[in-house]
Amino acid sequence: MERTDVAADAAVEVIPLGGLGEFGMNMLLVSCGDDALLVDAGVMFPEPELFGVDLVIPDLEVLERWRGRIVALVLTHGHEDHIGAIAHVFEHVSGPIYATPFTLALVEPKLDEHGIDPGDRLTAVAPRESVMAGPFRIEFLRVTHSMPDCVALAIHTPAGTIVHTGDFKVDQTPLDGEAFDLHRFAELGGQGVLALLSDSTNADRRGVTGSEREVRDGFEEVFSSAPGRILVAAFSTSVYRMQLLVDLAAQFDRRVAFVGRGMQHVSAIAERLGRLRIPAGVAVREADVRDLRPSEVLCLCTGSQGEPLAALPRIAIDDHRHVRLEPDDLVVFSARVIPGNEKAIGRVMNHVARRGAHIVGESDKHVHVSGHGSEEELKLVLSLVKPRYFVPIHGEYRQLARHARMATLVCPGTTVLMAQDGDVLRFDREGGRLAGRVAAGRVLIDGTRTGEVADEVLRDRRHLAGDGLVVPVVAIDGQTGALAQVPEVITRGLALDAKHDDVLRDAPSLLARAIEAAPQEERTDPGLLKERVRLEVQRMFRKRAGRRPLVLPVVLEV
Ligand SMILES: [Zn+2]
Ligand SMILES: [Zn+2]
Repeated sequence: MERTDVAADAAVEVIPLGGLGEFGMNMLLVSCGDDALLVDAGVMFPEPELFGVDLVIPDLEVLERWRGRIVALVLTHGHEDHIGAIAHVFEHVSGPIYATPFTLALVEPKLDEHGIDPGDRLTAVAPRESVMAGPFRIEFLRVTHSMPDCVALAIHTPAGTIVHTGDFKVDQTPLDGEAFDLHRFAELGGQGVLALLSDSTNADRRGVTGSEREVRDGFEEVFSSAPGRILVAAFSTSVYRMQLLVDLAAQFDRRVAFVGRGMQHVSAIAERLGRLRIPAGVAVREADVRDLRPSEVLCLCTGSQGEPLAALPRIAIDDHRHVRLEPDDLVVFSARVIPGNEKAIGRVMNHVARRGAHIVGESDKHVHVSGHGSEEELKLVLSLVKPRYFVPIHGEYRQLARHARMATLVCPGTTVLMAQDGDVLRFDREGGRLAGRVAAGRVLIDGTRTGEVADEVLRDRRHLAGDGLVVPVVAIDGQTGALAQVPEVITRGLALDAKHDDVLRDAPSLLARAIEAAPQEERTDPGLLKERVRLEVQRMFRKRAGRRPLVLPVVLEV
């Protein structure tokens, strides 16, 4: 196989800071000499046991060390696990932020929310375009995924070309007609690629993932048989899914309401950029839903993961301002279940079923297709790129290992480097190898859901030292939702002056009153109750003591 010659003393290091050995939180540092380049700045959604945490982002200590020398940030696409930490990462980057227009349109409001003015640093790029950043030439390649405007990267470095796929599947019939640039992948492979870093999310699925178009038939059956409202829970970034549903709504004479902040936000951006086409008269506001006959309604809702404050979970317990469920309604779950969210989603389904509405999931009809390539697609990319080194990325260890085995089958001459977050991959005259580790880990962030993003509280040691920790313990009768005893409120590292310490005295009874005032369904649902307790306690300490402690509610069912 071809060898990529490494120029004398041109060493390049690749350090994954998130996304390897776990799902989400994708971020990777590429350095050469005194310059570094950052690829993606993602978040991971908190697992249910991390009560009260809103966001999990990679530990930024490494970036701190590179401060002033990170010449650019490159974003592959607009999913939260690739751009969600942008506001936290922004100040560590000295140069431009390169991304496609749709990705940038999702990034802008995130910076804005945090009061960050990027000036002229947001730079739109197009597939097949190249930009220079320090010693790197970064080339963008079109890939297909579950949202528009996604790219892979060919990073041309003094040590050779590194191809980073971003997230992808090989959709041969993309809804927007913008095809995966397989030709350029093949060309690069012919010229010689030093290392391929490729998406392993679905490495344990056989065959081919399938086109975004494939769910049309499943949804057509839903539309032709549903007598009442149709509610579809999906990720708000699933713009292709949105388009397909908008088109079906038009065809079946239904009006579409985007329900939930995320849905409204992303659909508005997509429409503005011409990525979502809504025929005149098809879209209605949330508030208009109740004036329409049920058979005229399609609601696209947030909350596919059972998030307590999102649209569908609120609708499911009759706690939504505009949308109510009736027995003839049909609720479609059109999203992957992120591992760890099964219980929360199951509870939402129970609430839906209790209202007599029908539930359609992936096991009933083909109403969801993944955005990540399965085995045959991963092999295709490997065989086109024929890298000298292969580094599986985006996945837990078992997916990375599966992907590694595929590489040894497809490209016998390729050396696999298995890395996890924090590993330093070094490419120099001696070749490529693991060469040490840096600190990598997670930082938990609290507060974005309450809209107090500017004041958000970093949940690390510094934060705990400053504002302390509050653990409200609530024991509840799982059947009736009645309090089994007065809640306990335990604090650590929270120093209050005499003027404010009455909040500690009053907290248990205030909390008890707030819980008793909540609807029974919320009190018997531990996920919803935890969220309620967290918000109440946060508010109490903020209002009465001016403090923002970290609140970790514990709900015991007795
Ligand atoms: Zn993605
Ligand atoms: Zn991703």
